[in-house]
Amino acid sequence: MTLHIPTTEAQACAIVKSVIGSGTPLSLAGGNTRAGLGRTTQTQSTLSSAGLSGITIYEPAEMVIGARAGTPLALVQATLAERGQMLPFEPMDHRALLGTEGEPTIGAVAAGNISGPRRINAGAARDSLIGIRLVNGRGEAIKSGGRVMKNVTGLDLVKLVAGSHGTLGFLTEVIFRVLPAPERVVTLVWRGLSDETAVGLLSAALGSPFEPFAAAHLPEGIGADQARTLLRLENFSDSIDYRSRELIELLRLHGTPEMLEGAASGELWHDVRDARVFAGTEEAVWRLSVAPTDGPRATAAIAARLPGARWFYDWGGGLVWLAVPAGDDAAAGAIRAALKPLGGHATLVRAPAAIRAAVPVFEPLAEPLMRVTAGIKQSFDPAGIFEPGRMYAGI
Ligand SMILES: Cc1cc2nc3c(=O)[nH]c(=O)nc-3n(C[C@H](O)[C@H](O)[C@H](O)COP(=O)(O)OP(=O)(O)OC[C@H]3O[C@@H](n4cnc5c(N)ncnc54)[C@H](O)[C@@H]3O)c2cc1C
Repeated sequence: MTLHIPTTEAQACAIVKSVIGSGTPLSLAGGNTRAGLGRTTQTQSTLSSAGLSGITIYEPAEMVIGARAGTPLALVQATLAERGQMLPFEPMDHRALLGTEGEPTIGAVAAGNISGPRRINAGAARDSLIGIRLVNGRGEAIKSGGRVMKNVTGLDLVKLVAGSHGTLGFLTEVIFRVLPAPERVVTLVWRGLSDETAVGLLSAALGSPFEPFAAAHLPEGIGADQARTLLRLENFSDSIDYRSRELIELLRLHGTPEMLEGAASGELWHDVRDARVFAGTEEAVWRLSVAPTDGPRATAAIAARLPGARWFYDWGGGLVWLAVPAGDDAAAGAIRAALKPLGGHATLVRAPAAIRAAVPVFEPLAEPLMRVTAGIKQSFDPAGIFEPGRMYAGI
């Protein structure tokens, strides 16, 4: 196993060019905390962003931060916190769920489009990513986007690269727009609701003018005996007082919620963001994307096929975290069959390498989409050296 650690973009270009000649595929790595995401790949060499670290631009007044791809996410977040700002999309930390160690990097957050509960309000990592520098599969350095949204002209490669899991190129720098951190955060917790009732409550709240920033439901037995339905409010203190009053009144049918602040509220959302309730078990873990109101229907259909399944909901019901006995195929067939009538899709997040090599980890694409995906891969990486097969077999 060869490990390449370039300290400049020019070195990264030279490494890629040398690899094209020998035809050796490369794994791309940041802190390696998310190495288990995607299909299992066979590569003998790794290209690491560990030597590309540091904030390259931070303009609090312009609400923009840029950093080399290997910069620890924690450093970016601490730099922003000093000026009362934050990344808008609350990136998930995969270490607890995947049982990995190391430092998550900002480049991998961009490459994996890693987002958290705040996505329903603020969008995904992709929506805040406004600029990238990347080495393509020809060993050329490419810049797309920049420090301001307006500079995005022509093809928006930035959005394409977010979520490509290293298959299109090696990111060397990423630029995100940022937001002010909230003055106060409050979580309202209703207890004992069924999945259907809870998702109805969350939908009513999200459809109201009182702007919840996160909306989740943990059924009975998931982290506590009683089911918990959560709405998070953020912003100025006065605004939270008003919005929580109005929401409690709007949802009075469901009883009076408990109000959590500070560490109690923060810990609860870390559990949801990082799916910590499924950490340390042998189960396979999936993320299902469905229309929010279809969430309970999807889980009921899956429970009918897989009696041992456990789950919880984020994004108002639109994201279902599902844990099932790993078996031979992580129940891929049963889960995808249950989702088909609802039009949702399923991504396998945690499973042994042998299963991730055998079953499609990402939702299989329709033929025309697969052709487009293969064409994009071919134009970025004609020799197929970056993470071959990571997202789809043969691409
Ligand atoms: C000198 C110059 C340089 C520029 N450089 C860049 C650049 O580098 N990158 C870039 O991305 N863009 C660039 N632009 C484009 C510029 O950013 C856009 O024109 C601007 O973003 C438009 O935003 P606005 O809110 O001012 O829209 P407006 O100017 O208010 O409206 C834009 C259009 O939408 C219509 N419209 C507005 N509101 C509504 C509505 N509610 N319903 C229906 N129609 C509506 C208007 O009638 C108009 O036709 C440049 C423009 C100029 C003049």
